[in-house]
Amino acid sequence: MPALIVGNWKMNGLGEDIAEIAAMAGSSVRNLWVAPPFTLVDRAVIVAAGAIKIGGQDCHARDKGAHTGCVSAAMLADLGAGFVIVGHSERRRDNGETDADVRAKAMAGQAAGLEVILCIGETRGERDAGETAAVLTAQLAGSLPEDSNGLIIAYEPVWAIGTGLVPTLADVSAAHAHVRSQLVARYGPAGHGVRILYGGSVTPANAGDLLAVDEVGGVLVGGASLTADSLLAIATAAP
Ligand code: PEP
Repeated sequence: MPALIVGNWKMNGLGEDIAEIAAMAGSSVRNLWVAPPFTLVDRAVIVAAGAIKIGGQDCHARDKGAHTGCVSAAMLADLGAGFVIVGHSERRRDNGETDADVRAKAMAGQAAGLEVILCIGETRGERDAGETAAVLTAQLAGSLPEDSNGLIIAYEPVWAIGTGLVPTLADVSAAHAHVRSQLVARYGPAGHGVRILYGGSVTPANAGDLLAVDEVGGVLVGGASLTADSLLAIATAAP
């Protein structure tokens, strides 16, 4: 299974930046997904022309209703999006999202026919206290949807996001092995089929080493995903 390279543009990107997605789509790389801000999803779908998958960075748990400012998974699917990220640590931090919220969003994404990237990860304090495995276990217990259809997990240590800090390869390997064991415990053999991404300060310089780690099925990239040059360099670093 080739590595999956997913870009998360966060709250970055204006109309002129669509050119970056067009450049990604114009390359020969075919394992790229990009989640631009909601405002660019429809334009991104058009220029991606099916060559790269476009997704949302979040969705509401309900299909429609009185939720001012929110976007549903059905609306993303209607625009031609193919996936949605749920539970990113910035949403957990800025919007107070709980594991139960994340689970509801994941199931809404699945119901809308989207692939779902569900993010988990420990804080620096939790890591220093030796609680990484326990935190991941609890987050998965609280946020995994009922079935694993279209599910992808992103292990993103909170302290590694946007900081330039990256865990050791041994720590990445241990965390991914732990996530895998939890997925198999929850879903049985189907748990082996769930891809696990690593995220947190991935760059063209470290992507090759990270992607070579056992159980790392790809990467979720923030800052280094904003230009085609950088994201394509990460994609081509895959072993
Ligand atoms: C992210 O936004 O999920 C992320 C990993 O960001 P960065 O690559 O900038 O650390």
